[in-house]
Amino acid sequence: MTCKAKETIAMNGFVATIKRTRRKGSVGFRLSSGQLVVLAPSAISITELQLLLESKSAWILAKLEARDQVISKVKRYYRSGEPFTFLDQELVLKVCQGAFGTRLNGAAELVVSMPKVKSDWVRNALVRWYKLQAQVHIEQRVSYFSPLVGAWPKSIEIKTYRARWGSCNSSGELQFNWKIIMAPTAVVDSVVVHELCHLLHMHHGPDFWAQVKRVLPNYKDAKQWLKDEGHGLGLD
Ligand SMILES: [Zn+2]
Repeated sequence: MTCKAKETIAMNGFVATIKRTRRKGSVGFRLSSGQLVVLAPSAISITELQLLLESKSAWILAKLEARDQVISKVKRYYRSGEPFTFLDQELVLKVCQGAFGTRLNGAAELVVSMPKVKSDWVRNALVRWYKLQAQVHIEQRVSYFSPLVGAWPKSIEIKTYRARWGSCNSSGELQFNWKIIMAPTAVVDSVVVHELCHLLHMHHGPDFWAQVKRVLPNYKDAKQWLKDEGHGLGLD
């Protein structure tokens, strides 16, 4: 296999990575993990791309800046009123004094109570709650998707990973990162299907992706979502 060096263009205030596409037609822009990726048909020269980026630089800088703000917003203090995501729900945290417990109050409030309120205790309570929800939800989704994929895991375990959403070993055991439960349902489904498909194909070759696509034709949207937003999942 040959490895082609990545083309980049340094502009005033940002660096663009050029990804050559086989499609004809227009140039596409994508923000991925706070970086600009330019999807460009191979017929377009670097000079042409430079001119195009120059004409769009105000728009690009605004987008990159907005993204930076999103990243810095992830700082949490674990106080009442802070927003937390749980599958497709937007929850507001409510911290109160009382016996230890974490529960949903209706569809929009997540209540954490403890005898003495301390932010790291609140965080730990939330992690425990998310792990439990992840176990229940992911087990359900695995039961749903197993017959569709045609593969059944030996066991499902919820773990804490820094930089992966799930894993699969040759004994047929699946592991999932609890943090994924903070992502939309469709994204969780894509991770579930991804790992189930590894029970059939222990690689990321064409056969593997064909199987994923057969079960989830829109899996690429979820993949992109994780690339763009995945860094915001979890509690630090
Ligand atoms: Zn994989």
